[in-house]
Parts: sequence; C-alpha cells; structure tokens
Amino acid sequence: MFVDSHCHLDFPELRNNLDAISAAMDENQVTHALCISVELPTLAAVLEVAQTHERWYATVGVHPDYEETPEPTVEQLVNLAVHSKVVGIGETGLDYYRLSGDLEWQRERFRTHIRAARIAHKPLIIHTRSAAEDTLRIMKEEGAEGVGGVMHCFTESEAVVSPMRCNTTRSDSPCVRCCISGSALRMERICAKVNPSIRRTSPCVLSLLVSLFSSSRAVTG
Ligand SMILES: [Zn+2]
Ligand SMILES: [Zn+2]
Repeated sequence: MFVDSHCHLDFPELRNNLDAISAAMDENQVTHALCISVELPTLAAVLEVAQTHERWYATVGVHPDYEETPEPTVEQLVNLAVHSKVVGIGETGLDYYRLSGDLEWQRERFRTHIRAARIAHKPLIIHTRSAAEDTLRIMKEEGAEGVGGVMHCFTESEAVVSPMRCNTTRSDSPCVRCCISGSALRMERICAKVNPSIRRTSPCVLSLLVSLFSSSRAVTG
C-alpha cells in the first residue's frame, strides 16, 4: 500500500483525467492521495477533486511561488481547514530558486501558515528550495515542531536534515530525511485518519509516502 502525499490533481492537465489516474493508482497499490492546494482561488477545485474519492484528501495553503495571488490570513486558513477533507496546511515554505529580490512577503506568508497550522492542529506541507537556512529559522521561531509535517521539494544536504530528524523507532529509514522533528506522530495522525490500520503497521508512515504520478510530479515543482 502506498500514499501519495503530494499531488495536484486539480491542475487542468490532470483534472480531466481523474478516472485514468484513479485506475493507475489502483494498479500500483496507491490507496490514498493528498491533493495539495497552491492558492485560495483554486481551493474549491482542490476540494472538489478530493471529494470525488473517499481516500483522496486535501490541504489548504498558498504556494511560495505564487506571487500574484490573494494573500491568506491566519484566520482564513484556520477557517478553511475545518473542511472535513482537509488534513494539512500548505503547500507553504520558501523558494529562493524560482524567485529572487526582496522575498520578505514569502517569509511572512510562511509564518502565516505555521501560525494557522498550530491553531488548526494540522501538519504542514513545506516546500523549500535553495532556502534551507531561512526555512529552518522560521520553523524554529514559529514553533513548527508543534505540528510537524512533510518537507517537499527538498534539495538540501544531510547536515541540513539533521536537526529535522524525527525520533522514530526507524531512525535508519530513509523516510526520516523528510521529517520535521516530531513529525512522525503527526504524519501518523494524517495517515491514521486516512487509514487507521497504518498506525498499527508502521510507526513512521513517511516510509509509505511514494509518489507514482510521473505526470503529476512534473508539474508540482
Ligand atoms: Zn512544491
Ligand atoms: Zn506541489
């Protein structure tokens, strides 16, 4: 059994192909998928897609690469996260690879998401690219370890990953590379909600998170 923790099935190139994608998931034992929000104007589409399958879920958030989009507030994100299909906050984070210049707005947006996640008690989906130092600093300053989550688009070194390691019983597992400290528990919560049997089968469910959508991966960035 696999869980795709990061897909954008609402994107136009995928949305008209949901039946084929669902069939491909079945073929490859991908039993659950998390549809990631990238901006508020398209959130309705994300939720609509997530609702087409019992085991598809959603997140609420605004991507750090979306500069020209309505800025979310903490209150907005918290209210939107109440939706029964929403199990996480994001994707959020920092991206100094695709954007440059004064990116203070990106850092403020990231803080907004962490604050919302803490109030909503939901884990974070964090996109970090060429911005490891600020990502870790802001996570620490805002107490992101209180909610945990998944690091995504992660291109950093072992040294960067070390402080984020989770204390799971599988410390030798490659899954710890994308854990925030203490996040295994939170991810367990996500996946336990998705499938209660996961909690019994693996203490660190990140080892199950495998994306099999090559087309989806190509557009996520
Ligand atoms: Zn991303
Ligand atoms: Zn993405």
